[in-house]
Amino acid sequence: MISQERIKEILESYGGEITIGTIASHSALQILHGARQEGFDTLLITTKDREKLYRNFNVANFTLFVENFKDILSSEVQDELIERNCVLIPHGSFVEYIGPKNILDKLEVPCFGNRLVLEWESDRRKEREWLTSSGLKMPREVKPDEIDGPVIVKFFGAKGGRDFFLASSEEEYWDKIRGREKEPHVIQEYVVGTRFYLHYFYSPLNDEIEFTGSDIRYESNVDGLTRIPDWEKYFSPTYVVTGNIPVILRESLLPEVFEMGERVVKKSKELFYPGMIGPFCLETVCTDGLEFYVFEISARIVAGTSLYVWGSPYTWVKYNEPMSTGRRIALEIKRGLETNRESELIW
Ligand code: ATP
Repeated sequence: MISQERIKEILESYGGEITIGTIASHSALQILHGARQEGFDTLLITTKDREKLYRNFNVANFTLFVENFKDILSSEVQDELIERNCVLIPHGSFVEYIGPKNILDKLEVPCFGNRLVLEWESDRRKEREWLTSSGLKMPREVKPDEIDGPVIVKFFGAKGGRDFFLASSEEEYWDKIRGREKEPHVIQEYVVGTRFYLHYFYSPLNDEIEFTGSDIRYESNVDGLTRIPDWEKYFSPTYVVTGNIPVILRESLLPEVFEMGERVVKKSKELFYPGMIGPFCLETVCTDGLEFYVFEISARIVAGTSLYVWGSPYTWVKYNEPMSTGRRIALEIKRGLETNRESELIW
């Protein structure tokens, strides 16, 4: 793994002048727009086919072309990024395209946030250990002979909401898994309720959790199936995210929402020092008993925050000015630079 000393050395060579960069996907528009609002120069790493779109939005001071996003790992591209004093902001597609292990072992360009979190969130078992030891409720995992109601079966390595199936009895499970029994998977209680994807920001500089908003992912085809009577006769559900819908919570739920965020951050400091830094998202279902079940954590900016480029209802109350997550990241880096604490944020 690339050592923090090496990253620190590179960061020091920037002499306090930072260009904020990311790759052309996911929440790049918001990240670069927010960085500009805080006065940073911005850099977009893109493939030829995507450049036109980002040029249209005019969010980048510099554009760096690659054939393939994995080329970021080449010494040529890394040298250029370092030459330009770049700090990268990882987002979901960034991690997906480059790979968690490559980021840990090969990427020398300083990144906002603690890279060690990649080991904890990319492994479903470790993720469960982190969340449950934080005292959060997760959907129960069961063995085939314990299936006593609707379950969702998830194959490991399933990406982007495909390769799941639903079952409601042991018999149905064996029927649907036939031929793939040996592939690693989990059988999870299916929790019915309102899905809230809760957005947080943890500032190590202030030692403070901010609750910055929430969304509901619109997933295809499952969210379209309710329009079809007896859909299960014709279709199997998939959970591919195609968009995000804004939602706010009953205010009486907010104390628990805060508490969940605080617990996850506190535990992260024990598990992978210095723990969570910056934005993260708890993916939850809230039942009619008003209980939250967390089925996943995303330990970086999530795409649902792009609903709130102009700020969310919560960030508006806190800041009285538009504060997107992209801008909040840039603000944290700016405050880090002003107090000589930037190396606490960039790993
Ligand atoms: P991604 O990495 O894109 O977030 P994933 O492939 O890791 O997705 P999950 O996030 O675990 O998959 O689940 C995808 C979707 O399936 C969720 O957004 C939710 O709609 C549904 N889902 C997952 N687990 C449960 C559960 N236990 N109960 C009810 N719905 C669930």
